[in-house]
Amino acid sequence: MPIPARNKPRPVGATGHEVAAGRLGQARRATTHLFPPGRMILSSDGPLFDRNIIKSGRIRALYVPQQLSKLQRLKFVLAELDLPLCQPRCMACGGELTEVPKHEVMDEAPPLAYRNCEKFWRCSRCGKLLWHGTHWQKITRRLDEVAREAGTPGRPPDRTQ
Ligand SMILES: [Zn+2]
Repeated sequence: MPIPARNKPRPVGATGHEVAAGRLGQARRATTHLFPPGRMILSSDGPLFDRNIIKSGRIRALYVPQQLSKLQRLKFVLAELDLPLCQPRCMACGGELTEVPKHEVMDEAPPLAYRNCEKFWRCSRCGKLLWHGTHWQKITRRLDEVAREAGTPGRPPDRTQ
């Protein structure tokens, strides 16, 4: 059964892990086709964990306490699954990033970014141009803090530094 486009796994760009948001009913109708080995359900829906397909382990699932904030949930998941942060990917679509020479993006990059940044990357999937602006730095710094607090393996050397 193909995965509906809106439920295709999408990386959380800065963590490097793929996730897909789905509706509660879809998770409750989950099949092993939608969740092959390597994929799992993260949910705060208690009754979902009573399903035989989940209790038997045919679909892996992790209960995430719903009273946690978004960052607390991220920290919880990283700690429970012992997930490292991976190489940052495109914030828009999760594609891999390839560095492009600065002179090639002169006409494309916003003037302020071009003036202040030395390195630029292009998403291999959607073509979006990225650079380490203040937004990027804020997100990656916060994620590194969360991963440290979660005690998960460190991020591999960042080739987008
Ligand atoms: Zn992209």
